[in-house]
Amino acid sequence: MISFNVPPFTGKEIEYMGQAIAAQKICGDGAFTTKCSRWLEEKTKTKKALLTTSCTHATELAALLTKVKEGDEVIMPSFTFVSTADAFVLRGATPVFVDIRPDTMNLDENKIEAAITEKTVGIVPVHYAGVSCEMDKIMEIAKKHKLWVIEDAAQGIMSTYKGKPLGAIGDFGCFSFHETKNYSMGEGGALLIQDESYVEEAEIIREKGTNRSKFHRGQVDKYTWMNYGSSYLPSELNAAYLWAQLEKADSINEARLACWNRYYKNLDKLRESGKIELPVVPPHCVHNAHMFYLKTADIEERTEFIEYMKEKGVLTVFHYIPLHTAPAGQRFGRFHGEDEYTTKESERLVRLPMYYGLTLEQVDEICTYVKGFYGQ
Ligand SMILES: *Cc1c(COP(=O)(O)O)cnc(C)c1O
Repeated sequence: MISFNVPPFTGKEIEYMGQAIAAQKICGDGAFTTKCSRWLEEKTKTKKALLTTSCTHATELAALLTKVKEGDEVIMPSFTFVSTADAFVLRGATPVFVDIRPDTMNLDENKIEAAITEKTVGIVPVHYAGVSCEMDKIMEIAKKHKLWVIEDAAQGIMSTYKGKPLGAIGDFGCFSFHETKNYSMGEGGALLIQDESYVEEAEIIREKGTNRSKFHRGQVDKYTWMNYGSSYLPSELNAAYLWAQLEKADSINEARLACWNRYYKNLDKLRESGKIELPVVPPHCVHNAHMFYLKTADIEERTEFIEYMKEKGVLTVFHYIPLHTAPAGQRFGRFHGEDEYTTKESERLVRLPMYYGLTLEQVDEICTYVKGFYGQ
């Protein structure tokens, strides 16, 4: 049986977690959290990176910083994970879903402006499969209409757009370190902040509304309740697990890309024959092999495909059910314009196994079955 996902493990995780325990520091903001945060800041050339308990919480924290409120509208794709919308729905705002492009499955930058109203306050591009949205256009629209941009870069760490790291292009960027992502800490994430003036407030909200971060740095001699807040900082045990992977980020990235490229090469003929479609990576985007997917003719063929692959011992999965078709999406949001591609393309997409530790031989084996399904 070939699993769909295996959480990343490099071998140093237990040693580092043991170090945190030995140092009697297992709550948040210890040495490993600092190492991970500095690494993220250097890698993305960002003023401030704050480790969080999830990407969901990073997005919630960003939403609090923007002061988004009841009645405001936030533009985002419908083809995304629920967290993209939850953060704003929790603040009483309305997600306004805009169609995706069929090639990258990302928010269609050319359909954003038509969805802007006097209530629109921000845009949340989601970099699907670690392939960037058209950020030049999106940032230009945001500037013109005075909107903020929060990048849902949950899948985008180590990817770039015209040389710029994803997550570090908008006002805020959110990463995920869930066990299904390229680098993991079980559950976890990070918020990237470009404008330094938000840093102090972000640190306070993340620490239950207190200035404990300043206290830790010796900048105040006691800490107190300063603002509303929550608990968005992860434990050192989780940060220690993550550090073992960030240390090896390049080799993990290379191993994933090798699998991705092997999939593509193996299945390219099938693509040329018109039987399937494969992911599109625009030339100015460098991706991180977060995901390998293919598109079947339609949902019926996809169901048969998943069943066939399962019989061969390979787990493959489909992805998001568009948010605007879900009960909460209908209650809290609305779709602007025509759903030309969101539903149609999401019904065709199926993801093949992709994780650190998947071998090229396994990729070859999987591709043999894919070709078998299509009679080749
Ligand atoms: C994984 C994911 C999230 C949520 O990440 P968590 O760390 O589990 O909260 C949000 N958005 C997208 C696009 C994701 O892929």
